[in-house]
Amino acid sequence: AQPVLAVVGRPNVGKSTLVNRIIGRREAVVQDVPGVTRDRVAYDALWNGRRFTLVDTGGWTPDAKGMQASISAQAETAMATADAILLVVDGQVGATSVDEAVARTLRRSDRPVLLCATKVDDARGLGEIAALWRLGLGEPHPVSGLHGRGSGDLLDAVLEVL
Ligand code: GDP
Ligand code: MG
Repeated sequence: AQPVLAVVGRPNVGKSTLVNRIIGRREAVVQDVPGVTRDRVAYDALWNGRRFTLVDTGGWTPDAKGMQASISAQAETAMATADAILLVVDGQVGATSVDEAVARTLRRSDRPVLLCATKVDDARGLGEIAALWRLGLGEPHPVSGLHGRGSGDLLDAVLEVL
């Protein structure tokens, strides 16, 4: 079976937009409203001749146990089932306390974990990115799911660990 990359992170950071960019289609549901229920969905992806499965997580319901607990649970599931994990944070917002909690969970992973900052649509957004090193997940990869900026470098890094 092909290796699995799970994409985790808070609602509305741009996970599905990035997944759509990577698979080159518009299948992952992009929502403007945070917290709309979305299930884990798997997609076939191809980069540099290598196939892998992308799992877009994101089904957080507002009435459930709370966003932080819910996303940490998703991260736990990803750690148990995926070959590698991509934590997505909003590069225009920076790391929130929820991002820090999820990063803490992911630092216990025995699978590789990569960090990317989305919504970095142009070079102006790059200045804030270095601060994300403090999440303790290594190099933060700046990307724009909307425009594609940085996605090739991110995928190169993904294939190195997958
Ligand atoms: P998800 O909940 O993490 O899957 O986030 P979505 O992919 O549904 O995106 C949430 C919102 O952020 C939508 O309004 C997107 O258009 C916007 N968004 C996502 N990626 C980018 C990006 O790279 N740049 C900008 N400017 N907006 C983005
Ligand atoms: Mg989504």
